[in-house]
Amino acid sequence: MVGKYLGIDIQVKGRNLIKGREEKMVATAQRYANAIIGLSRNGLDRAVAAHTLWERCAIPAVLYCSEVMVISKVALDKLDRIQHMVARYILQLPKSSARVAGALDAGLMQMKDRVATRTGLFVWNIQNKKTDKILKAVFDSVMRSPQDPWASQVKALKAAVGVHQLDGSKRLVKSMLKDVAVGNILQQKRELTSLSCMPQPRKWFKLQDHVNDSAEIGTLNRVRAGDAGLGNRRPNKAGQFHSHCPYCLSLGKTVKLSEHHVLIECQSVSYERNQFKVPEHPINSPGSKYALRKFIGGDNAGAAELHERARKIHRILTRWQDISA
Ligand SMILES: [Zn+2]
Repeated sequence: MVGKYLGIDIQVKGRNLIKGREEKMVATAQRYANAIIGLSRNGLDRAVAAHTLWERCAIPAVLYCSEVMVISKVALDKLDRIQHMVARYILQLPKSSARVAGALDAGLMQMKDRVATRTGLFVWNIQNKKTDKILKAVFDSVMRSPQDPWASQVKALKAAVGVHQLDGSKRLVKSMLKDVAVGNILQQKRELTSLSCMPQPRKWFKLQDHVNDSAEIGTLNRVRAGDAGLGNRRPNKAGQFHSHCPYCLSLGKTVKLSEHHVLIECQSVSYERNQFKVPEHPINSPGSKYALRKFIGGDNAGAAELHERARKIHRILTRWQDISA
């Protein structure tokens, strides 16, 4: 049994009041994601168009009223999975790529943090803006009831931000909530060795300004996400799996295959590296990972410079693939 209250479906029967609403959220997100992924290449940059449509149209529709709900982990995970489809489309990443990569380069904040931000600002508004007396009274009463799941959610949010009350200026509260979201992403990033060369965003939760839908930027994005399709994490385009660099192996050297090996170390592409003035480091040297991280944007290079480097990376990787095929 479902009723409607202020445009929201409320389940009248059963324990979960908003199950119907959750199902609708997921369906709406999926519908938008499908529409975005079906975008044709009509002179628009698909990366920018997809990002704009997702943030401006899909998210407001999907998360409408989420600040007053307790959304289940299962529903949030489904939404994150759909959002990652959109991020992969924006960044031209393979299916197996990490969700964190989407958050970093496509700037899509994970759903849990989007809801937390909305909830935090909603609470701030009730406490600091001249609102309806009845609404304030209801809020106070809810916050006083120890068993209320929404009140617990707000308390957990305050603890995550590290404050007793969400007061101070709205700008301060916003920036504190953003810091929590950044912290959550960084923690997940640290747990993934595949992302060890990935630079941090120049601006958090924005589409990184070097991103467009060209093939070269697709390659750069995949290198940044630690998933360039070399064959080290899953079979490459040719269906081959290489845990070690096949070129180096042919010279009798056993070197673990990775993006930083190919781009910074491997002798097979020394000529191209020299020609493009890409830094070279000896095999297995600790500096090579760091050099790659810098080269793919860790040195805060601007968009134009990264476009230039993306072309070089694309050429070097293509050459390496030809040699080691
Ligand atoms: Zn090699």
